Amino acid sequence: MSLNEFSLIEKYFAHFGQGESIVKGVGDDAAILDIPKGNQLVTSVDTLVSGVHFPQDAEAGQIARRALRVNLSDLAAMGAKPLGFTLALTIPGIKEDWLSAFSAALAEDALTFNCPLIGGDTTAGLLTITLSVFGTVPDGQALLRSGAQHGDHIYVTGHLGDAAAALSLLKASDIDEPKNQLRTGREYLLNRFYQPTPRLPAGEKLRSLASAALDVSDGLLADLGHITRQSGVGAQINVHRLPLSETLKEFKDQQQAIQWALTGGDDYELCFTVPAKKNAIVEAMISLGELNATEIGRIIEGNKIRCLGADGEMLVFDEAGYQHF
Ligand code: ADP
Ligand code: MG
Repeated sequence: MSLNEFSLIEKYFAHFGQGESIVKGVGDDAAILDIPKGNQLVTSVDTLVSGVHFPQDAEAGQIARRALRVNLSDLAAMGAKPLGFTLALTIPGIKEDWLSAFSAALAEDALTFNCPLIGGDTTAGLLTITLSVFGTVPDGQALLRSGAQHGDHIYVTGHLGDAAAALSLLKASDIDEPKNQLRTGREYLLNRFYQPTPRLPAGEKLRSLASAALDVSDGLLADLGHITRQSGVGAQINVHRLPLSETLKEFKDQQQAIQWALTGGDDYELCFTVPAKKNAIVEAMISLGELNATEIGRIIEGNKIRCLGADGEMLVFDEAGYQHF
């Protein structure tokens, strides 16, 4: 593809490289970034393979948005602010329609989240998108998974379970099953799956407040398990407090909705813990509308996560969340 590679990059990927920290973006041998004084570089990479991480017939724009947003969610979970990203793109051939839709959606999201494209690589092969994001966080203030302590309050941002509901919706329509109960919120749910919102402002605000944080990609129970293991603590979740969207609240089978909220992946909300002495600040931010989050439980001693129902009864869930391997 080398004959067309330069014109392809020029046409589709050279136009959204602005940003105050970008000394050199697309076009040279490598990109150069300024790291503001007193900050640390935070970086993460994710690869999406066609047929594995998204259906082979997924739309170019949807792939682009999801790829960038999922990566930005990792920066949000660290409390970092985006600086820029690189894109390693492997495509089976040059399809201008596809490239133009992919590049337009990516450019739009890059602007929305203030994260310019600063470089990349273009090769031929099975459709694969590898995206690396770079961000900054003030020295020593990154949010880790390892800081939760006994007594801390556990929160999640936004709503849980929507993406899992969307997936079940997609599967149901695949096999042409009878109409199901989720028709009303279909649009909303699919959007939550294809275009998750990286909680970047929340991540930045939580830097000085949260003792631990991560983004929920594999399911609340599975991901909270990373915090409890790395922090050497247990957790108690009050299942009736889980924040469900209006769409999921209207779903007839509430048991199913709660199961999605606990074990469904792909929501990309932040789960974070707050020490008791800082909890009033977080509660104030929530009531002032500065932070969209809900308290769902507490960090306890031990190493287990237990789920309690509305009357304090212990609940058992058999799935630990989506496992990739
Ligand atoms: P080299 O052969 O020196 O690695 P390339 O021809 O791969 O250079 O890339 C030329 C320039 O275009 C570099 O600045 C590179 O970062 C950029 N680039 C290549 N592919 C992409 C892409 N898919 N998106 C953004 N920038 C790209
Ligand atoms: Mg190259």
